[in-house]
Amino acid sequence: PPPSRKGTGLAEAPKDLVNEIKRLEELFTVGTAKLKEITDHFVHELARGLSVEGGSIPMNPTWVMSRPSGYETGSFLALDMGGTNLRVCQVTLTEQKSEFDIIQSKYRIPEELKTGDAEELWEYIADCLLQFIETHHGDVSKIEKLPLGFTFSYPATQNYIDEGVLQRWTKGFDIAGVEGRNVVPMFEAALAARGVPCKLAALINDTTGTLIASAYTDPKMKIGCIFGTGCNAAYFEDCGSIPRLAHLNLPPDTPMAINCEWGAFDNEGKVLPRTPYDVTIDSDSPRPGQQAFEKMIAGLYLGEIFRLVMVDLHKKPGVRLFAGQDASKLFKPYSLDSSFLSAIEEDPFENLSETLDLFQTKLNITPTLPELELIRRTAELIGTRAARLSACGVAAISKKKGYTSCHVGADGSVFNKYPHFKARGAQALREILDWPDKKNPKDEDPIEILAAEDGSGVGAALIAALTLERVRAGNM
Ligand code: BGC
Ligand code: MG
Repeated sequence: PPPSRKGTGLAEAPKDLVNEIKRLEELFTVGTAKLKEITDHFVHELARGLSVEGGSIPMNPTWVMSRPSGYETGSFLALDMGGTNLRVCQVTLTEQKSEFDIIQSKYRIPEELKTGDAEELWEYIADCLLQFIETHHGDVSKIEKLPLGFTFSYPATQNYIDEGVLQRWTKGFDIAGVEGRNVVPMFEAALAARGVPCKLAALINDTTGTLIASAYTDPKMKIGCIFGTGCNAAYFEDCGSIPRLAHLNLPPDTPMAINCEWGAFDNEGKVLPRTPYDVTIDSDSPRPGQQAFEKMIAGLYLGEIFRLVMVDLHKKPGVRLFAGQDASKLFKPYSLDSSFLSAIEEDPFENLSETLDLFQTKLNITPTLPELELIRRTAELIGTRAARLSACGVAAISKKKGYTSCHVGADGSVFNKYPHFKARGAQALREILDWPDKKNPKDEDPIEILAAEDGSGVGAALIAALTLERVRAGNM
């Protein structure tokens, strides 16, 4: 784990700030014993989610029922509707084992669409697809329908691979009239209205895509994770261990990828060490009581947790954080995203001059040196807690499946860009699973969380390919 800066400028810090740092450290630090307790409860919740009665984690069967061999071929469209961006890809799985070509375009999802009207969302998506196909294929009236894998990264109930009944919006989306309904006909209607020449072959989750894309190039990959705007994981279960599917009489050793939707872990508040700030995040969100785990970890919330701490200390009687300064810019919800925290944690300078600059330009606040130290420490605490809690989910799936050695494919902005996230997660895994210290820092851990292949591009294409293969074999 990275060295902590604890102490550098705090020697002369006013007592009120020192006390607050101590309090924040107690609130946000998750020790080894707690990590283990969370993991044990998590294992239990994974199983409960697969039971007939169900639990708080949805554990959605995805109808992805095989691993890729590496020999899949063909050309596919992939559409990725994430929490922040919309991406359209054309993926060609080539004749060479485990190789692919990809071309893609990214569109930012306009903020107002996330809480707007369903019709407009589907129209926007159809327009992006149309534009992409026109650019790369020319006249859409002359081309054959292309098979499409649709990565819809929200919890969805699937009885088939080409349907998805939205269980609930997450990641701040709040669009009326979609929850409880199958999104595929809505999507297809928008495509038909514009004559977009493609046919949905599979609706997938980003975690399932990540799992499959990673397994395509690395057979040791057993779990796919997203640590991005939202947070979640998928892995392969045996149908014999899914009581909820028992009535289908599938052979017990048939694999079934499960989209855990672990963001909902501990919605009932049994083990997670939630702080008053987490409680506020939840109650002010469009879906209070949901995604308890995700709200402590995911990129959408990290900056907001930080902002709530700053506002609290600014307003708190007896604490003089940013005293005498106009902190009004700090009062706008969700105005600081996780890249703001990343920048603070990346500040290489002893005097935290980049953090100072960030506060001045973005918030019109000039913190003192002890205040800068408190800012840095708060960012470290929030980032470290997120990474350590994430490790509980990975450890829980590994324990449930009995994996003692494997690779975990991870993607998402927090995993890829947040400083030290990987090292902190790896450290927590080591504590939870009681691995002995490494002899050589270069030695691999038994379970390693590694950067994944592109799940919602290549993974979606692969799942479309595997599905069409299964249809051709008459085995749906
Ligand atoms: C969604 C998941 C998704 C995750 C990562 C969560 O909010 O519920 O379906 O996998 O975000 O994108
Ligand atoms: Mg994504």
